[in-house]
Amino acid sequence: MKHLFNLSRLWLLMLLMVCAGFASAGIRSTKPAVSTSVSTESTVYICASPKAYAYHKTKACRGLNRCAYEVKQVSQRDATAKHRRTACKVCY
Ligand SMILES: [Zn+2]
Repeated sequence: MKHLFNLSRLWLLMLLMVCAGFASAGIRSTKPAVSTSVSTESTVYICASPKAYAYHKTKACRGLNRCAYEVKQVSQRDATAKHRRTACKVCY
């Protein structure tokens, strides 16, 4: 009977250790809660000029600095599909 008691106590100890492991894992996973929807679709910059043909990775690109029109922030998919732009050779 004593043997059975020890076994159940050991089992309880193991259960506690597993629970503690789950708890610490839960804390770790909650830290970087950055939304993944942003990273799947990258944002690019385009010049609203009718002569512009490229989309840019950054606003600071020298290809964009020449733009006399409005600089628009669009998704990369829109830049290629909607605005018919190609990747800028300077920043891509
Ligand atoms: Zn560029």
